Amino acid sequence: MPNFCAAPNCTRKSSQSDLAFFRFPRDPARCRKWVENCRRADLEDKTPDQLNKHYRLCAKHFETSMICRTSPYRTVLRDNAIPTIFDLTSHLNNPHSRHRKQIKELSGDEIRTLKQK
Ligand SMILES: [Zn+2]
Repeated sequence: MPNFCAAPNCTRKSSQSDLAFFRFPRDPARCRKWVENCRRADLEDKTPDQLNKHYRLCAKHFETSMICRTSPYRTVLRDNAIPTIFDLTSHLNNPHSRHRKQIKELSGDEIRTLKQK
């Protein structure tokens, strides 16, 4: 089973290239950051455990300084790595892309409601 990248506008899968894929962190605070940066509204209500099991991001979304290549076959992220590189603009111009879920901007109130759950 190839791994797909969970980022909007990214169609990479692990079978296509030697690009590294990283699981979502189990740590709830850090996992939350990843979801926020992805802007995937459909991931917001998933638990860190579900995200960790089923979703991955490819190395394209991380600054190179956050990635350590420990060997030609093994790439790891730094403990506090957060994905920051996303192609969000072209997604808005292309409503028929692979990710059909709308990316919605959360207002401050909505974020507070989510955190209270
Ligand atoms: Zn990707």
